[in-house]
Amino acid sequence: MKKIPFNKPFLTGKETDYIKDAVSSGKISGNGVFTQKCQTFFEKKFGFGKCLLTTSCTDALEMAAILTNIKPGDEVIVPSYTFVSSALAFVRQGAKIVFADSESSNPNIDATKLEELITNKTKVIVPVHYAGVACDMEAIMKLAKKYNLYVVEDAAQAIDSFYEFKDGTKKALGSIGHFGAFSFHETKNVISGEGGMLTINDDSFFERAEIIWEKGTNRSKFFKGEIDKYGWVDTGSSFLPSEIIAAFLFAQLEHIDEIQNKRKQVWSIYYNGLVEFLDSSYLPFIPSFSTNNGHMFYIKCKSDIERSKLIEFLKSKNIHAVFHYLSLHKSDYYLKLNNHIELSNSDRYSESLLRLPFYYEITNEEVNRVIQEIKQFFQL
Ligand SMILES: *Cc1c(COP(=O)(O)O)cnc(C)c1O
Repeated sequence: MKKIPFNKPFLTGKETDYIKDAVSSGKISGNGVFTQKCQTFFEKKFGFGKCLLTTSCTDALEMAAILTNIKPGDEVIVPSYTFVSSALAFVRQGAKIVFADSESSNPNIDATKLEELITNKTKVIVPVHYAGVACDMEAIMKLAKKYNLYVVEDAAQAIDSFYEFKDGTKKALGSIGHFGAFSFHETKNVISGEGGMLTINDDSFFERAEIIWEKGTNRSKFFKGEIDKYGWVDTGSSFLPSEIIAAFLFAQLEHIDEIQNKRKQVWSIYYNGLVEFLDSSYLPFIPSFSTNNGHMFYIKCKSDIERSKLIEFLKSKNIHAVFHYLSLHKSDYYLKLNNHIELSNSDRYSESLLRLPFYYEITNEEVNRVIQEIKQFFQL
């Protein structure tokens, strides 16, 4: 039986052409034509304030940590069930991370339990839109306003997904908080190998964001002809990707709708196939305020033993399924400096969540084969 991998990066076909264009244009460092094209594309299509491409989502989060002026001792609230970067970017600025638990119905941060974590040292809340499913942004923004906090959306998995407010307004994830961070890592929906983007939804941060992006210099202003020489004015780093990366990304963006339609279709085939024989407690839950962007498909097993057996079973059928995050509050790095805490929902997802093969080029037959093998497993 043909192997079904967990992920397979999809190429739209124009990537190398655009890279060639970038190379022959003679401008291959950052912030050139392709960078501008990508940034404008995102601003127009999703209503983000301002966009800056970065070399990764991790970098975008680091920029947000600098822009929110995180100082040693400041507290940042992050879900424990997330990728390392959601916390690490703030730790590098000296923040104390306060881990929040997930909801019982899905891995997103439980907004109803956030207020009790807020102290007079809290500066930032980092909602992570797991699997591209929205956190309860209306509740989170309300809390942020009440306590004067910044919200940095970790939207690494959330391109082309939306949150619906109670008054019916729909906003793209990454456009609601003060900042949003996206990833174009090869495992995400649109890709550039490594790559990311910071969205800046509050204009007052934009000028400083450009400076931090360009190694603490006001070079962007210089290029726009607004000043006649540039120099060192602030902290920062080299956060901008080369035009070669942006050229690759632009080839993907031209096909974003096609990519998204296909991924949502794959998601639906999984869901409709599995719901026939699996209890809904095994299946992903999408709250009514969120859209689905077809980032991944997971099932929630009943235990880590059941999950291990299923992974082995699928492997024997040449199907590669994988578990996801280990809760960060249980990581070696966190426990070196902090006491053990209890976050039961986060632990449950760490032990039981299983991600199924998911990529643009997976065929309907292959998805159905995965479904049939899972059915087989549960009937044993
Ligand atoms: C992928 C991912 C990141 C990291 O993205 P990079 O571009 O690899 O830095 C951060 N947070 C979440 C939730 C992710 O899924």
